[in-house]
Amino acid sequence: MTVSAKTVFDDLETLKKELIRCMKCGNCMSVCPIYNVEKKESSVARGKIALGEAILSENIKIDDETLVKLIFNCLVCKSCMLACPSGVRFDRIILGLRSAIVKKKGIPFVKKALFGLLRNSELFDKGMKAFAAMQGLFLSAEEEKKRKPRGFLRGISSRFDEKFILPELSRESFRDRSKEKEEVSLPQATALFFTGCSVNYLYPEVGDDLIYVLKENNVTIITPKKQNCCGMPVMVHGDIETAREIAKKNIDIFEKTEAQYIVTVCGSCGSALKHEYPIILENTEYEERAKKWAQKVYDISVFLLKVIKFKEPKGKLNLKVTYHDSCHLKKSMKVFNEPRQLLKMIPGLTLVEMKKPDACCGSGGSYHLTYANTSLKIAKEKAEDIKATQANVVCTGCPACMMEIFESLNRFGGNCHVTHTVSLLAKSYKNERAGNV
Ligand code: SF4
Ligand code: SF4
Repeated sequence: MTVSAKTVFDDLETLKKELIRCMKCGNCMSVCPIYNVEKKESSVARGKIALGEAILSENIKIDDETLVKLIFNCLVCKSCMLACPSGVRFDRIILGLRSAIVKKKGIPFVKKALFGLLRNSELFDKGMKAFAAMQGLFLSAEEEKKRKPRGFLRGISSRFDEKFILPELSRESFRDRSKEKEEVSLPQATALFFTGCSVNYLYPEVGDDLIYVLKENNVTIITPKKQNCCGMPVMVHGDIETAREIAKKNIDIFEKTEAQYIVTVCGSCGSALKHEYPIILENTEYEERAKKWAQKVYDISVFLLKVIKFKEPKGKLNLKVTYHDSCHLKKSMKVFNEPRQLLKMIPGLTLVEMKKPDACCGSGGSYHLTYANTSLKIAKEKAEDIKATQANVVCTGCPACMMEIFESLNRFGGNCHVTHTVSLLAKSYKNERAGNV
């Protein structure tokens, strides 16, 4: 890999121009989910910017253990960026600082092994399938395909307590059971489906629903079998080199297809492909290619409403639904109107808003495991907000949020069904075919 000029991920000095944009107004405090729980200056963007300044003026060492914990105590939800009058690009700051920490301290063994697997999609796939086949050893089976961690898994995080649940890992991944190319007669477009890991291994039914919806709209779908993770999990942990390698492999795969567009059903995957690849690949031979592909990336809701001629759903769904805005989908991809528009088009469906539909669910990738206490308080607020709507379904545009909300509703006593927006749309089309209009 050639890096001909320095970026915030390669040289902390380049962060200076970003840090000085902060005018210390404190606007970020009112929107930061972590500050809302902890009420500490170090929890919020302004405090972390002060830490960055202290590192650059050599008042704190980058590998100081307390500092490392504070810098990783962030969901990278980007709420602070929307509230910032100075336009501080806090995502660059936090990822630049984490990248510098990783360069100095290295990556803990378990993370290193996992990120190593993510570099190789075939190996990762084999590992996930082996884990799915043996999940009974680590996860006890509950009703309705719920699983609970047991054995050594319980020791990984205090979040893995008696109440913690997660969905069962699918024995057959979505990409194994789907065709590499789904053709339609008279296609109006050809789209590549970037599945993401959660849909591939945990929610293959969301992938099935995406295919159903696109076929109803006469779109040819290409789902490359060997696509990689989007790289977001390694990026937020500061392992920029692995993230770059993954991004390049994905771009190579995109270029081997005749896809006009890339469609995602995950706010984090979409955000990685559209916004992060061009930045992490800056000053590399992939920079222009990353920018070119970034322009073709759309969340499914935007693709349906703004890119193609959309077939309105006619099938009735007598449901009271509330919609959760995933942080990456709303605050990074700026997608929040289109999913609501789609839901409102479904006959019989009533959309009820939460008090704070765009408040973080508390997941933050693996934040809920490493900062379990704070995450649990954030998750509780979200669960209570959902319950107060008295909706019987909560839907969202991100499988990671689905997992977290599924967990917190189970823990805090909500009986709301958790699903993806595209699944409700598929259900409406299916009801239409069944004559239920
Ligand atoms: S990215 Fe989110 S969690 Fe991190 S400082 Fe900003 S608002 Fe707080
Ligand atoms: S809102 Fe922006 S300028 Fe104000 S303190 Fe937070 S990061 Fe700094």
